[in-house]
Amino acid sequence: MTNDEHTYSATRSGTRSILPGNMISVEEARARILDVFGVLPAVETPLTEALGLVLAQDVVAGFDIPPLANTGMDGYALRAADTAGAEYDAPAMLKVIGYLPAGAVFDREVASGESVRIMTGAPMPPGTDAVVPFEETDEYDWSKADARYQQGDWQQAPRDEVRIDVEARPGANVREAGEDVRAGETVLRAGTLLGPAQIGVLASVGVDRVLAHRRPVVAVLSTGDELLRPGQALVPGKIYDANAFSLAAQVRAFGGIPRILDVALDTVEALTARIHEGLANADLLVTSAGVSRGDFDVVKTVLAAEGEVGFWTVRMKPGKPLAFGTFNAPGGAPGGRRVPHLGLPGNPVSAMMTFELFGRPAIFKMLGRLQHDPEAWKRPTVRAVAQDPIRNTDGRRFYARCHAAQDADGTWRVRLTGPQGSGVLTSMSLANAYAICPEDIDVIAPGETCEVMLVDREAPPRQPGWAEPAT
Ligand code: AMP
Ligand code: MG
Repeated sequence: MTNDEHTYSATRSGTRSILPGNMISVEEARARILDVFGVLPAVETPLTEALGLVLAQDVVAGFDIPPLANTGMDGYALRAADTAGAEYDAPAMLKVIGYLPAGAVFDREVASGESVRIMTGAPMPPGTDAVVPFEETDEYDWSKADARYQQGDWQQAPRDEVRIDVEARPGANVREAGEDVRAGETVLRAGTLLGPAQIGVLASVGVDRVLAHRRPVVAVLSTGDELLRPGQALVPGKIYDANAFSLAAQVRAFGGIPRILDVALDTVEALTARIHEGLANADLLVTSAGVSRGDFDVVKTVLAAEGEVGFWTVRMKPGKPLAFGTFNAPGGAPGGRRVPHLGLPGNPVSAMMTFELFGRPAIFKMLGRLQHDPEAWKRPTVRAVAQDPIRNTDGRRFYARCHAAQDADGTWRVRLTGPQGSGVLTSMSLANAYAICPEDIDVIAPGETCEVMLVDREAPPRQPGWAEPAT
């Protein structure tokens, strides 16, 4: 048994108990983590901020949509009966008594033998029951001949009579009031995930703010004496902090609000200060590095002194060591707000992979996305034919960075996107999927099928320099 396989917990008196623990599965780690999170409170949210949030109220329409019957075409509104028997060689001639653009209403009754030149979306003038589109009238000939129309002044262009070349059915090209939504109808239910269409529906019923579960604020802390921030000059021995930025981007992609903290050096004081800062205003604190067995891994020491924390060895690769705990938010009353902490491995691929598998579900839960579907965090999976061998060296479930694509016949194929070391971030950047080699399988050979998580359906289909999949 190694150091990793212990559970530490601080007690009020500061003594530390060390409990033996085992390697746990990805599922077990996820379940333990999800247990600690709740759905965040609902807050009034402007529609422009609501994309990806979960609605916390039913929304009822206060009026019909469309509110008035209106025309679906540019044309002539008329009484259908006036066009009985009309055809190109025996057209109906109707008087034009006015023009009606969208946004206005016609203020008088249209009598038999009369019509109104009308634009798409304008309410049907009283007395009319059908619209004949311009294409089935003499509109084109007239508009070509009329000088004022030519100058763009179509509203003022004089027109006394129109030739109608077809017989119109009553209701032709008319959109009835309430065709989309009836007054009093519930258009969206509490629990609905707000995408572009749902937000459009909210706007169409006149709502500009909705009650929605708020986004979690996720503090992101990189730890390590070796880290520089991009923009600083590189000096020997140092590397740039990739994790703060990849993790913050994941937080945002999953629906949270990232707050990147200053890098914490590997000292107890520096780390304690940063961790307090992270706990103060966040719903989740994510740290990377310092949870493995290096001599300078003070994260463990600090965490164990600050609250209850488990150090787990998760049966997965990349990304074995994981710390998870909850802490009292500083400044709060005893027994006050508890903030979960997720301590990720330092290797850039491990950090991202563990945040994908554990951070994403936690954010979804806080957003309220798991209320109706506890498995909504799951990525779509497909069975795919491996083009390269996918090796599992040590009995941990292996998530291989790969590119998945479908053949013309529908068969999914996966190729590795490059070296699979936990520090090789470029192969992550070429991947749109992770192929899974189960714990108990040594290798998935080319031609064999495996399970593949599709993580980025919008990734570019092929990268420069790539060979076509072997067939
Ligand atoms: P540790 O968990 O501290 O042992 O770190 C594991 C590896 O990840 C080491 O090679 C670190 O230099 C590297 N590492 C840790 N933090 C970061 C980071 N924020 N960005 C890039 N690499 C990191
Ligand atoms: Mg370190």
